[in-house]
Amino acid sequence: MAYKISDECISCGACEAECPVSAIAAGDSKYEIDADTCIGCGACAGVCPVGAPSEDE
Ligand code: SF4
Ligand code: SF4
Repeated sequence: MAYKISDECISCGACEAECPVSAIAAGDSKYEIDADTCIGCGACAGVCPVGAPSEDE
């Protein structure tokens, strides 16, 4: 199950460094997760200060 990043993202960049498969990159207005690369480990959700990453429905 891939994770996604909500509009709550403040683009701090903390999650990018934690992702074991480098699925996260800065987008236009927030950080984005490549759903095809994400392995659903949850590391990004664990470090995000605003709780923006969550499991995609
Ligand atoms: Fe990367 Fe894990 Fe977050 Fe997916 S859930 S984007 S693999 S840190
Ligand atoms: Fe956005 Fe949270 Fe990632 Fe920071 S850790 S870039 S606020 S999703």
